[in-house]
Amino acid sequence: MNRNEFIAIVAPVAVRVRREGGPLFPSILMAQTLLETGGKIPEWNNIVGYKVGSGKQTKFWRGRSVNTKTREVINGVSDSNQRADWRVYDSVYDCLKDQALLFKNNPERYQRVIDAPDPYTQADALYACGYATDAPKEIDGDPDYAEKLRGIIPRFEYLDVEAMTVSKFKMKYEITSRYLSGPSKRRPCIPMPGVRFLVAHDTGNPGSTAAGNVSYYERSRNDVQASAHLFVDDQEIIECIPLLTSSPEKAWHVVYNVSKDNELYGCNANDAAGGVELCYGPRLNLHEAYKRYIWVLAYACYRYGLNPAVDITGHHILDPARKTDPMNAFQLLGKTFEQFICDVVAEYQECTKGEAEEPMLNAGVANTIIDTWMSPAWKELDAKRQEAELAGDSTAAAAYQQQAEYIHWLANEMRKASGQPAQ
Ligand SMILES: [Zn+2]
Repeated sequence: MNRNEFIAIVAPVAVRVRREGGPLFPSILMAQTLLETGGKIPEWNNIVGYKVGSGKQTKFWRGRSVNTKTREVINGVSDSNQRADWRVYDSVYDCLKDQALLFKNNPERYQRVIDAPDPYTQADALYACGYATDAPKEIDGDPDYAEKLRGIIPRFEYLDVEAMTVSKFKMKYEITSRYLSGPSKRRPCIPMPGVRFLVAHDTGNPGSTAAGNVSYYERSRNDVQASAHLFVDDQEIIECIPLLTSSPEKAWHVVYNVSKDNELYGCNANDAAGGVELCYGPRLNLHEAYKRYIWVLAYACYRYGLNPAVDITGHHILDPARKTDPMNAFQLLGKTFEQFICDVVAEYQECTKGEAEEPMLNAGVANTIIDTWMSPAWKELDAKRQEAELAGDSTAAAAYQQQAEYIHWLANEMRKASGQPAQ
């Protein structure tokens, strides 16, 4: 595993944990985990150097551990011969969630970390609270922990912005990731370059649960080339192929040889659509399951900039000759497909309406960028346009004008993003 592969795996998890209320900025998580691991995920998925400690199990750590060598700094002296017991995790996600619990469960020690308004303050707070053993610079001449973190933060600050953006959607439920092993027939591990629409399914198997369906998929992962991204029941929303909890991958949920998906959206569902399965039947509270179902579809629309009124279709619409889902479940609810779409639209509106939104970009920062870099570039292009006009080169003049207009548009986008009127 190289550094880029490490980043590709850990960055989305860092963003997700932050969105779910984790105390650490994603940029700090990246800096921390890179320092701790050197950019390699150990087999035991512990990328934050979390030791067994109290030994008390948590929702994310089931008590397994591994004993390896470690480097400790004790009284300012580095010692590489210490051994330690490290927590073993099922996934990187579990590791970062467990670390988040450590901070949350120890506010008397970590309140400064939790309250830090920006990653740089948080870096100082982590060191000050004694999160990592590292000698002060005066002792070993080596930068201290806070300084090391600070050096890495700028490379990952875009993740902090990403985490902030999506938290504007009301996260009513947790989405559990339980990815199928891959590459396999069910999960080919092929990235989905964009998510253009969503397909509503039901399992067609009354009484089966989300967890039951995902376990069955995992057991038969090499037998059948059929899958979906998410299963929803009255208890859980489980993602078995990445769509919302990590970079999206393709799932096989609508056969290729139907043409309705191409007619409606210009692409095949398997290549560009998320597939979401609703569980129903005896022993399941269908109303509860349905609430989670419309919420996760609304969230997927928000996440990928889709319009819930037109960008969700049903399996029965794409493949009417062979499929009746999701109407098997909707009929039990007495819902038509149109009513279902109305429900998702209403959910989407409810989850995105907020108080007056803080602009994401500070107006002063926007104006500095506009005045210092954009306006001079615009003026230069405008001068070149005039020159070309004088020289009678209308093609060149038109090209310069186009570039100048583009910069003008960019500047106005910056103004809008910072809550200022366009000019
Ligand atoms: Zn289906």
